[in-house]
Amino acid sequence: MAEQVEHRRSVELDLRAALENQELDLHYQPIIACDTGAVMGVEALLRWHHPLYGSMPPAEFIPIAENAGLLPEIGEWVLGRAMTDSKRWPQLQVAVNLSPVQFRHVDIETMLRQLIVKHAIDPSRFVLEITEGVLLESTDRVSKVLAAIRDMGFRTALDDFGTGYSSLSYLCNFQFDTIKIDRSFISNMSKVDSSKTIVKSVVTLGRGLGMDIVAEGIETEFEAIMMARFGCTEMQGFYFSRPLPVTQLIDFLKTYEPKPMQPALEPIKAV
Ligand code: C2E
Ligand code: MG
Ligand code: MG
Ligand code: MG
Repeated sequence: MAEQVEHRRSVELDLRAALENQELDLHYQPIIACDTGAVMGVEALLRWHHPLYGSMPPAEFIPIAENAGLLPEIGEWVLGRAMTDSKRWPQLQVAVNLSPVQFRHVDIETMLRQLIVKHAIDPSRFVLEITEGVLLESTDRVSKVLAAIRDMGFRTALDDFGTGYSSLSYLCNFQFDTIKIDRSFISNMSKVDSSKTIVKSVVTLGRGLGMDIVAEGIETEFEAIMMARFGCTEMQGFYFSRPLPVTQLIDFLKTYEPKPMQPALEPIKAV
């Protein structure tokens, strides 16, 4: 227990230095259209190379950063870097994760307005991803901020759908452009029949409500074909590519050959 507290404290101190020492970096994971197989966009994912512990997963250090009050600053750095990098792939959408903390404690509207001007970007190229947790907190404020973000021209996505408590009908109130179905549902499709049914229903209902659907964590051809067959819009996962540093992403884009995901006619066996 004491050791854990100590570890968190030292990570926290190191994180403060990390921003200044340029130890933070963004990797980008391609997002693929289900019908044509073309790369439509990328998701920016934060990476930290700790001088002692090596690369540390964001799931580990982001909560520490949030608690330490470092998130507004790190979040702004992420947005700025993603906007700068976006100039290198002008044809692609760029998805950026927002922390709930950025909704709670920061004048996120002003920050975004300033970033648009500073980086001279077109907000409609950017998809801001938030998780369900944000929606459960203070509905009024959150829907106002979300509406303001959309009015500025940004697109919005609900990340990790299915891991929280919200229902699709509840989500209608927030008018997201995109729903991202969490990897846990995708990876269960080959094992649990009900997962397939749930995923298929989410796709049908979401599309019926006018939203795009992205499937997260596609690792096999089976999963890719299933999602295409269900009428999903886009997908991302190790099957297509891991998150890549900028130069590797540029190489990937040069050599990538789209495989149209024609839904197979014969039944697909789970692998
Ligand atoms: P997320 O936004 O849901 O991002 C997707 C995560 O799934 C990424 O993990 C990605 O590397 C991983 N992933 C993608 N395809 C596959 C696959 O086929 N198989 C498996 N096993 N994993 C896959 P990562 O980069 O470790 O990020 C974890 C989470 O940390 C993100 O989940 C997001 O919630 C958060 N995060 C990452 N970058 C940022 C950031 O800049 N700001 C904030 N606030 N949160 C971030
Ligand atoms: Mg995300
Ligand atoms: Mg996700
Ligand atoms: Mg996640």
